[in-house]
Amino acid sequence: MSQTITKGIIASPGIRIGKAFVYQGNKIIIPKYMLRDSEIEAELQRYERAFQKTKKEIQSIQTQIASNLSKEMSDIFTSHLMVLEDPKVDEQARRKIREEKRNIEWIINDISIDLINSLSKIKDDYIRERIIDLSDISKRLIANLQKTHTTTLSDINEEVIVFAPDLTPSETALMNKTLILAFVTDKGGKTSHTSIMARALEIPAIVGTINTTSLVKNGDTVIVDAIHGKIIIDPTEAEIKEFRKAQKDFNKLEVELSKLTNLPAKTLDSEDIFIYGNIEIPEEKKIIKEHMAQGIGLFRSEFLFLNKSLPDEEYQFKEYKRVVEFFNPMPVTIRTIDVGGDKIYAYTREYKERNPFLGCRAIRFSLENPDMFKIQLRAILRASYYGNVKMMFPMITTVEEFLKARGFVEETMKELDHEGVPYDENIDIGLMIEVPSAIINADLLAKYADFFSIGTNDLVQYVLAVDRISEKIAYLYNPLNIAVLRLLRSVIQTSRENSTPISICGEIAGEPQYTMVLLGLGFRHLSMSPTYMYQVKKIIRSVRIAECEELVKTIMLLEDTHEIEEIVRQTFKEKFHEIQY
Ligand code: PEP
Ligand code: MG
Repeated sequence: MSQTITKGIIASPGIRIGKAFVYQGNKIIIPKYMLRDSEIEAELQRYERAFQKTKKEIQSIQTQIASNLSKEMSDIFTSHLMVLEDPKVDEQARRKIREEKRNIEWIINDISIDLINSLSKIKDDYIRERIIDLSDISKRLIANLQKTHTTTLSDINEEVIVFAPDLTPSETALMNKTLILAFVTDKGGKTSHTSIMARALEIPAIVGTINTTSLVKNGDTVIVDAIHGKIIIDPTEAEIKEFRKAQKDFNKLEVELSKLTNLPAKTLDSEDIFIYGNIEIPEEKKIIKEHMAQGIGLFRSEFLFLNKSLPDEEYQFKEYKRVVEFFNPMPVTIRTIDVGGDKIYAYTREYKERNPFLGCRAIRFSLENPDMFKIQLRAILRASYYGNVKMMFPMITTVEEFLKARGFVEETMKELDHEGVPYDENIDIGLMIEVPSAIINADLLAKYADFFSIGTNDLVQYVLAVDRISEKIAYLYNPLNIAVLRLLRSVIQTSRENSTPISICGEIAGEPQYTMVLLGLGFRHLSMSPTYMYQVKKIIRSVRIAECEELVKTIMLLEDTHEIEEIVRQTFKEKFHEIQY
């Protein structure tokens, strides 16, 4: 009997069939026992075998990542190898087996805890990275000692569909998309960075399914239909047939929509709309250009860093320059790092916050760490010499914060002048409007900012006090809530009054069902992931601004979110049913 699950949120579209792989995260249990004298030799050999196996595994992941993703990402594993092969650690492990007569998992765990504790006291970027490597490598080694099959997603070497209670954005970013056909998680929301990463990598995904991981077993055949929002475990022949048809229809629609590539994003009443791309990793630039986007409206620079801490100036400069030159003369809006929240990186792992989304995140983190911030500013400014760069600060809450950040840019410019390093002196510096206070004070911010970009992913969560990654309260997370719409209307008004260019880069900019609302509210610059870029363009080309304004006028008179949603949904369905997946 097959089992169909319809709970969950489509994070990235597509339909796949494959074998389930259940991934429980890389939590491991450490067995602890004493050895008899007669067992010591065997324990040393067990350690040696696990050591060699771990080494081989890392080398093979490294080669795989270097060919599928990038050399930089594979470097993470070079440092893992260095940690593994450190002769002092190896010698200590062997000695402890002989002298302390404890099992090797216990010893490895203790050595790594001791090392982490002593290294944690040193405030140095390089050391901080090594701490993470150390913890990863000891987990891998212990898993191999216990013959636990797989410890990380990078170990997967056949085509699978991953089921997991939860995935971090960095775990997702390192997925090999030729092997991971799709994924399903129990936790998560549409605008979580794991979902954003799934779209970036074009891996179909359904998130927030509550308990699906407990319903599948390794090796089960499953269909993930991230178009209609269905997961089928052990499908029947008839269901497989239906799946093949849905997949064919999906591909046909994709081909049909791609014919829009060279057509302008112009409404029926000749209003030009500008479509830009959101990118997380530089590799996405190609697909954005293929979609004929007019530049990059949001470069989420933090994804360059993945599991690493802030890379040096040269590395960042090269990565930014690559993207900037690729799009020149089109604009590339580089956002300074937005760590914290659900994006947990090396630097923020040290201290756990009670409310990470309300904590030391984004620009707050950069201002707390001026040395790191200035490295990034130098890299962005240097890249600005090679094309059309705009710089943007995330999560600005107060005017002072913006001025302080801008002050750092000016200081950095002076340093570059002094060194004779070229950069674009007229670079536009703007901010993400994603905190309610920034909308309330948009007129004040407009005095100092060159542009605004609206981040609705966060704005919705901060206006409605609803965690954007929580599946439990996802029903409350709704950009069509009248409070959100009122704020969007207000910020458009303020930007007009102050002639401040405004764009929108939250996920709603790239979701077809919201396009008419955004046009009706007055947005003309939309930045989005390429996932639905053609659908959005198709809508733009099929509507008049007047009818979008009419729609907005109607919904703005309502107070019930469901009523608003229903009107927007109906309008979309009537006009665009053929482009609905
Ligand atoms: C947003 O908040 O809408 C946004 C675009 O930024 P991020 O999703 O990276 O927080
Ligand atoms: Mg944001």
